[in-house]
Amino acid sequence: MLNILFAARKELWVTYERPLHNALNEAGITANLSTDIPPELVDYIVYAPNSQLGDFTPYVRAKAVLNLWAGVENIVGNPTLNIPLARMVDPGMTQSMTEWVVGHVLRHHLGMDAHIHNPDKIWRPVAPPLAQERRVTILGLGELGTHVARTLAGLHFDVAGWSRSAKQLDGIACYHGPAGLKDALERSDIAVLLLPNTPDTENTLNSLTLSLMPKGAIIINPGRGALIDDEALLAALDAGQIAHATLDVFRQEPLPQTHPFWTHDKVTVTPHIAAETRPLTASRVIAENIRRGESGEPFVYLVDRSAGY
Ligand code: NAP
Repeated sequence: MLNILFAARKELWVTYERPLHNALNEAGITANLSTDIPPELVDYIVYAPNSQLGDFTPYVRAKAVLNLWAGVENIVGNPTLNIPLARMVDPGMTQSMTEWVVGHVLRHHLGMDAHIHNPDKIWRPVAPPLAQERRVTILGLGELGTHVARTLAGLHFDVAGWSRSAKQLDGIACYHGPAGLKDALERSDIAVLLLPNTPDTENTLNSLTLSLMPKGAIIINPGRGALIDDEALLAALDAGQIAHATLDVFRQEPLPQTHPFWTHDKVTVTPHIAAETRPLTASRVIAENIRRGESGEPFVYLVDRSAGY
């Protein structure tokens, strides 16, 4: 029988215990799934970066760490981790990210705020442009960014994307690498950040790159807080270079009450809710990777430790 350690915040166990048991059963895996197993007996570690577990040295027979989150910045550099690390790619999470981004893109595209907040009851009969007249750029064309880009293109937005390696996606202009960022930003009426947090992506939006965007551009960041230089963003908002920033992720979470983002009238703060891992669908992904590990097939969604994501 396999020993599978669930290493995450205690309250998550209540949510995950049943779906994980069911998914393991469906995959034909007999396992002792528990939050408390002697380290030297553990075969797989289901892991959330907010767990107490930081030293993997005693887990001498573990075959893989299976992350419950898409972002791995809190574990990828752990020097005690010398076994494969898989990140979470979960259809439920992808759907929820897509819904969140589409909602916020449509808010800005349609100028909804002007009608929702209209205290003087002014009649402003200005129709919004059509989606094909709005250029949206997705920074990060991975699992989430690609799905978001395709969905927005399906709504007829003029969509482009930017990634580290070159890509080809039907109907979507693809830019890549440091040299491609300028072209990607220059056509961003709305920029959506879906990059991982790595040393290379920190401050992707800074005073220089923000100045490349069309005046009055919109930023939507459900990626990670460190992708944006906060001070540079505040300056660009105050100067009117950026018209609005909708931010779901922050360098420090929860966002401190004293942070200027809370009170800035051109910033919308959402509390890291764009795309939670969904226990039902994510448990199947975990079980599939354990099945693969046991049958000698390669794991899916492995993190490239040198790239940091
Ligand atoms: P992913 O599949 O690993 O995709 C990452 C994308 O970023 C890839 O297209 C990659 O390029 C690109 N990239 C990485 N480094 C780059 C660089 N230096 N320059 C240009 N492009 C670069 O990740 P994902 O599953 O889509 O998730 C993306 C991020 O979303 C996660 O890392 C996490 O931080 C965030 N997230 C947030 C929430 C939330 O609730 N707010 C939920 C889930 C995830 P290549 O394609 O060339 O590799």
